[in-house]
Parts: sequence; structure tokens; C-alpha cells
Amino acid sequence: MKIYKEPVYDLNELARYNLHVHTTFSSCAKPEMTVEAICKTAEEAGVEMIALTDHYNTFDWDDEYMAQIAQLKKEYAALDTKVKVLFSSELSCYGVGKFVEKEETAKALDYRLVSCNHFHLDYWGKPEDTSARGYAVFALELVKSAMESRRYDCIAHPLIGRFVKHIEDRTEVSRAMTDNELGEICELSAKTETALEINVGAVLGDPALFRRLWNLGREAGATFHFGTDAHRLVNIDTRTHLADIQKIVL
Ligand SMILES: [Zn+2]
Ligand SMILES: [Zn+2]
Repeated sequence: MKIYKEPVYDLNELARYNLHVHTTFSSCAKPEMTVEAICKTAEEAGVEMIALTDHYNTFDWDDEYMAQIAQLKKEYAALDTKVKVLFSSELSCYGVGKFVEKEETAKALDYRLVSCNHFHLDYWGKPEDTSARGYAVFALELVKSAMESRRYDCIAHPLIGRFVKHIEDRTEVSRAMTDNELGEICELSAKTETALEINVGAVLGDPALFRRLWNLGREAGATFHFGTDAHRLVNIDTRTHLADIQKIVL
């Protein structure tokens, strides 16, 4: 689903929506993350729209995943809330042109967030060259292939090295990417209408990367979406770290 007609470069505007929220269907989320509690918390925080983006990272899980979505829809239908909910997923592009979910499953969702860098998972593709530069090149290729597939609305926590566990400095992988390379990703974002996620934890963890992406992205006409990657109710409010993010990207 297209969220914005034109790219939005105003963080206050972007923060009206939280397009990355996990429910109890993600094993990493807290038991408090029910649809009811999520919507109540979002409404109190003035978040107008949320996307429920549970992980899709198990092969041949399509029927089970759609059953989860049906359950979430049922719970939402029983609520009296102003918050609009997109029934979505954090899908998985685990190799160049390789996707865990079936295309029909991706198509059946309201909104498709995709991770290209969950390198901590066993089956996720790994580069032959495991240096920071090796991971940088590989991570860029994965994001490009996800964008070119045109299956997805947004790249989750784009290009961060946080999940490359053997490299201690979390920013080393992104520092090994050139401005030209990031610029190409931004151009492809504009061309394929695949957004780059302003993911709160990712921005705070690698400010320099997001400053570069934000500036190169605005030049290229890239689209940005906002998400907190909430695994707990306290993380649903999009505005908690907004002033910090504002300082980082500008
Ligand atoms: Zn993720
Ligand atoms: Zn997530």
C-alpha cells in the first residue's frame, strides 16, 4: 500500500504513523503486545496509524501466517479505536533475489516491510568476504534486489550492521559504504517506490548512516517511512526520540 502520494521529509509528519510494531505473534515481543493494548497505547500517544509487522522468517509458513493475520483482524474488529491498523509483516529477503515468503502472501498484506539484514539467523545469506567491506557490499546487493523485486513497501532498519555479530563496532559495516553506493540505493528507492525506514533504534545506533541516507535520499527523491520496531508498549509512541532524531539527521 502506498502510504504517501509524494515523499515526505518532515519528521513530525512521518511520526504520525508507526509502521513497525510487533505483536505477541513475534516471539521477541513482550506478552503485553496485544492488539487491544497496542491500539490503546497508540491512541493515547496520538499515533494515527500503525502497521502490525510480525516476523515472517520461517520457510513454508504461509498458511500459519495468514491465520495469524486473520486472528489479529478479528481482535481489531472487536475494538472501538480511532487508530487505523495495517495488517502487515516484517518479511525476509535473505539472499540476493531470495525471499522466505511466497509472493501471494506478500501480496495479501496491507503493507510489506522487509528485512534484508537479519544476518544473525542461520539460513540468512552471508558474504564470502566477511570483513566490514564484504558485508557492506553484500548488504547493498540485498537491499537492491528487494527493491528491484517491487514486492515491498519499505526496507526495515536499512543497511545497519547491528546483526553482523562478529564485528564489534556496529557502525563499521555502514562506514564501509561509499556515498555513491548509498546514493544509488536512494535513487532506487525513488524509482521503485520502496521506502527506507527511519527506524528509531537503528538511527540512534548508527546516526552517521541515517544522516547520510536522509540527505542523499532527499536529493534523490527517496521515500522514508517511520517505525519504532516496538516490541514493548512503551516503544509505540513515535515521538519519544523525535527531537534526538531531528538533531541527528539535520
Ligand atoms: Zn528486524
Ligand atoms: Zn522488527
